[in-house]
Amino acid sequence: MPTGPQRFSQIVTDKAHPARVYDWLLGGKDNYPVDEAVGEQLPPEARDAARQNRQFMHRAAAWLATQGIDQFLDIGTGIPTEPNLHQIVQGIVPTAKVVYADNDPIVLRHAEALLVSLPGGVTDYIEADVRQPQGIVEHAQRILDFSRPIALSLIALMHFVPDEQDAHAIVRDLVATLPPGSYLVLSHAASDLYPELAAQVTAEYAKGGIRLGFRTRAEVERFFDGLDLVPPGLVTATEWAPSDKEQEVEGSGIYVGVARTS
Ligand code: SAH
Repeated sequence: MPTGPQRFSQIVTDKAHPARVYDWLLGGKDNYPVDEAVGEQLPPEARDAARQNRQFMHRAAAWLATQGIDQFLDIGTGIPTEPNLHQIVQGIVPTAKVVYADNDPIVLRHAEALLVSLPGGVTDYIEADVRQPQGIVEHAQRILDFSRPIALSLIALMHFVPDEQDAHAIVRDLVATLPPGSYLVLSHAASDLYPELAAQVTAEYAKGGIRLGFRTRAEVERFFDGLDLVPPGLVTATEWAPSDKEQEVEGSGIYVGVARTS
């Protein structure tokens, strides 16, 4: 069972939720008709974007584990979808510790799937909101050693946090808790790559009551201020270490980056 202080909020089934719309986009079954209704109205590219984003997570997590990173704090985890982050990193470093956090009660409902760690490693889940980063860090400090490098992953999360809720300050404060040699892994929907599609997606989510704020390249780059982006830098999801270099890289409306703290 999750060990964190849990709020046990109600599952709301008459309003669409980001985690469940994303699950629908990925072809998952853990969503409700209200979520499907939003998903159905989205252009088909939204499904491509969800898949590309998830595949970036796989590649970035594996890369970090091969760099010797064995502590992960993943905020905005989403409904479990195999392989989950801990399965990827523990496949490389079996003793890796992973703390997951999400503010949607549906994710807590499915948290057992996130908590099946390999025996030598640790996984943990806390229901928490990234807009209250201190509580997440305090919880994570009980499990992770903040004197050793940690990978903080905010994957397809920050476009749910608008500027007036201090999105950049939240990320800066979270990163400030990490020791040197840590990493920030961030992906974010772009407002300036496919502007018409971006406007359409944002409008359909808004009809479902979900506020999305896609950002420009410069706005996304600011999340990495003061950090060293590792090659290939800030690129789109499909451009980040594609597994098959021979294949033509598919277009993507998601910016991604992995950066190191010094
Ligand atoms: N990181 C996963 C899931 C992305 S979907 C992946 O990339 O595959 C975005 C997730 O962020 C959803 O699960 C949603 O519930 C969560 N989320 C949205 N706003 C949040 C907030 N303020 N605090 C914590 N989690 C949030």
